Amino acid sequence: MKRTFKAGLVLSAVLAGTVATQAQTQPLPRYMESEYASWPTYGGQDLELKVDASGTHFTLWSPKAEAVQVLIYDTDRNTAPVDTLQMKRGQNGTWVASVPQQLYGKFYTFRVTVGGQQLAETPGVWAKAVGTNGERAAIIDFATTDPQGWDRDHGPAIENITDAVIYEMHHRDFSMHPSSGIVNKGKFLALTEPQTRSVLGDATGIDHLKELGVTHVHILPSYDYNSVDESNLASNQYNWGYDPYNYNAPEGSYSTNPADPSVRVREMKEMVKALHDAGIGVVMDVVYNHTANNDDSNFSLTAPGYYYRHRADGSYSDASGCGNETASERQQMRDFIVNSVKYWANEYHIDGFRFDLMAIHDIETMNEVAAELKKINPSIFVYGEGWTAGDSPLPAEKRALKENVDKMTGIAVFSDDIRDAVKGHYSNAADRGFATGKPGNEETVKIGIVASTAHPQVDYRKGNNSKFAYAGAPTEIINYVSCHDDLTLTDKLAASMPGSTEAQRQRAARLAQTIVFTSQGTPFMFAGEEVFRDKKGVHNSYKSPDSVNAIDWTLKNKNAEQFDYYRELIKLRKSHPAFRMTTARDIAKNIVFDKITSPNVVSYSIRNNANGDEWKEIKLVFNGSDAPFVAKVPRGEWLVIARDGRIKADGLGTSKGGTIVVEPTSALILARRQ
Ligand code: CA
Repeated sequence: MKRTFKAGLVLSAVLAGTVATQAQTQPLPRYMESEYASWPTYGGQDLELKVDASGTHFTLWSPKAEAVQVLIYDTDRNTAPVDTLQMKRGQNGTWVASVPQQLYGKFYTFRVTVGGQQLAETPGVWAKAVGTNGERAAIIDFATTDPQGWDRDHGPAIENITDAVIYEMHHRDFSMHPSSGIVNKGKFLALTEPQTRSVLGDATGIDHLKELGVTHVHILPSYDYNSVDESNLASNQYNWGYDPYNYNAPEGSYSTNPADPSVRVREMKEMVKALHDAGIGVVMDVVYNHTANNDDSNFSLTAPGYYYRHRADGSYSDASGCGNETASERQQMRDFIVNSVKYWANEYHIDGFRFDLMAIHDIETMNEVAAELKKINPSIFVYGEGWTAGDSPLPAEKRALKENVDKMTGIAVFSDDIRDAVKGHYSNAADRGFATGKPGNEETVKIGIVASTAHPQVDYRKGNNSKFAYAGAPTEIINYVSCHDDLTLTDKLAASMPGSTEAQRQRAARLAQTIVFTSQGTPFMFAGEEVFRDKKGVHNSYKSPDSVNAIDWTLKNKNAEQFDYYRELIKLRKSHPAFRMTTARDIAKNIVFDKITSPNVVSYSIRNNANGDEWKEIKLVFNGSDAPFVAKVPRGEWLVIARDGRIKADGLGTSKGGTIVVEPTSALILARRQ
């Protein structure tokens, strides 16, 4: 995540209400950080709302509250309550209230009094359905939100995360452009439309994903976030969504009607179902590390202080760079995260979770997340950013850092090692990398190839970023050269290759992605790079307009060869388990690097029918220099898979080996069965 800072809707939410929902003006009560561990916690699964045959039941966790009310409404905003329930103290820090009716169709908020102060209303932290802008929680019958066949719906079964090919997308990026041929532009439903075509006749939408061959779509934050005003969608606001508001309800602006709480739920499920029917899994980007607001967040308005870490002076600590950081080491917060992902997996059939700034969370929480999700569905996987955006009071040894990934089970981290080595440093636009002719990155590329696992021929002391083999297995590593953050690969190449032609830059992109997709670990790509999309050089486009962010689908026609290259590259990886080894031992045994002294060349073999591959040996030579490299390949019956900027998973032709020229900025891949 790049900085979203505090942008916000706080003011408009207050102004929109005719009811007195003014945020408190006094400071919230503060507690000693050491005190929170002694607060009673509530492990029940019925927090905040449960509807059953005996009626509607409210349970709010707020140990220090002096009084709590539930306000019942007929509509999602701008109306006075039709009823106010006084809650009573329940068990383990909770407050409870019940009515004998099933209040389907109604809305509710909580109002907590603490430290002698009545706080502003909040939909709570467990609202599973909300109205416009998530101001009020809604009481809906979830059975009515299931698409047809939902009970039999499931995502693709995969044995290991390394079998996944992950495609990271934002709803608006993917469908918003006038060329997309998609009706429900910028909506969950965009991913349900079959047979959509661009204005030039190329497949778009879900058909495009099937054609490309990715296994999982990773959608940018799709829970209810704060920055887009759902009451004014005609104004075409754009945001990445790293500003969480209601963690357990879908974002309203991606639905066709944010005012009807069932609609966003149903439409998100329809999206998941359509992707599943196409054989594609859905990964959710989750941002439990901070909230959009501080004192006005739902966490603060239910149990002030508890859910966040603070500095010694009582102010919010800020490892997220967005104004606050949550405290996963506290039981009720840990349970919140674990139960929230479990809820998305169970109710929405989500197949994977990407944790934003994961190192703000503690290792124990992440281990519990992964273990609990595997119980629901063994194919679910979890990965995250193994870093923070600022310092945290949480000791480094407890953080879910990249360097601590081997202390976690079932968690993978993004490899900034391969990212920066291949394309150049992320924060210095002009910096080049291995694929663009800058020497000195060869060893770090090798670190990427072996997925940061220990290998006898890889010298980690020469690594650009990490100086030791931090991964215990390739299943702990996500490989990539770009994502929503920073310059797109297209823009990065333009910035770092002044005076180059587009053809040269596309060649560099092919080499870069060939390294990523043939490396051990799990490949990850940013949506649209397969058609060479750009973002007009904007590196932090979190609130840039559609004109910057939307993918122009006429590029698929213009850059058809680029698309074909990506498609064949993905096909190659999926067809050959040698690229998807699961243990460090196998990698150390089967991968043999050639001793090369030329700068910007890495050459290696994958041997021994690795991981059950039909190919006995695969030879890969990456030439990132601007001079031809003469490779010496053993004599044999080789199938030529990639050469001189072209690739075909089933082979471009054959070779007898010997001396083979690897053209500048290109990959040579050969394979033999004997
Ligand atoms: Ca929202």
